[in-house]
Amino acid sequence: MEKSSKIYVAGHRGMVGSAIVRKLKGEGYNNLLLKTSAELDLRNQAAVEVFFANEKPEYVFLAAAKVGGIMANNTYRADFLYENLMIESNVVHQSYVHKVKKLLFLGSSCIYPKMAPQPLKEEYLLTGQLEETNEPYAIAKIAGIKLCENYRRQYRCDFISAMPTNLYGPNDNYDLNTSHVIPALIRKFHEGKINHSEKVEVWGTGAPLREFLHVDDLADACLFLMLNYSGEQFVNVGFGKEISIRDLAVLIGGIVGFKGEIVFDSSKPDGTPRKLLDVSKLSQLGWKYNIGLEDGLKMVYKSGLRTVI
Ligand code: GDP
Repeated sequence: MEKSSKIYVAGHRGMVGSAIVRKLKGEGYNNLLLKTSAELDLRNQAAVEVFFANEKPEYVFLAAAKVGGIMANNTYRADFLYENLMIESNVVHQSYVHKVKKLLFLGSSCIYPKMAPQPLKEEYLLTGQLEETNEPYAIAKIAGIKLCENYRRQYRCDFISAMPTNLYGPNDNYDLNTSHVIPALIRKFHEGKINHSEKVEVWGTGAPLREFLHVDDLADACLFLMLNYSGEQFVNVGFGKEISIRDLAVLIGGIVGFKGEIVFDSSKPDGTPRKLLDVSKLSQLGWKYNIGLEDGLKMVYKSGLRTVI
């Protein structure tokens, strides 16, 4: 990939896509192709066909997706399945038709079976039942992986997939009904501090374990894989360490400066009990994260929040 190569970042307004754009620009890539969803509806097969025929991108980062936290996944189940399947099918197929040199597809760690051994190795895919709350999204992401794998096998397309763990960072979604846990807790604790609330509610039991990676580290890993990896097997992108939701709440409460009580609402779903990626494949390739969780959360709270709420 040359600095002047025509690179299409699908989903550049989202948290992941915008981080990839920041990374590419920072590294001097100067021919980025970006379209908002109003300009190009990636669910529309005919529109995607015309776009690829006219623009002929050389490289594609496929970061466009319908995403959300545990409640959004469980509520908008049909939308998560349909929209993600359409986006992936259209972009991957047109990348094949119009001879894209290389494509990187972004998946998610929720593709793994709910009760798979931990840490999650790439080969555990499709060895058991999925977590119920995000099954439609996971099925769509598994389909995306299989598209890349099989366009490679049948047509020798250089299409690769990266599976990021739970992410956080700039341009996250702070809507409490649809967000992931980190932006939700930052917002809840911040509002709790401002309003001098006695308590803040955290969903579930606090027992689930999650791994979190700053999205700038993910973007760094995506560029690394684009430049250095051309295998059929998708690659986990993780932090390698996990934290309980209870400890995460205490950590975020401390960073924000919330002085009240943290209350757990066990009527809300916990989701999968544990989700830690095995990152040995990526480590062996020579990549590691840069941003620790506490530093990353401080950065996000300092710079990100006030622009959103
Ligand atoms: P998941 O990793 O797909 O389950 O996605 P989430 O980031 O939405 O949730 C992670 C964990 O945090 C789950 O166990 C949630 O129940 C828990 N959690 C606690 N409080 C919240 C909250 O306010 N919002 C969200 N989204 N999750 C929360």
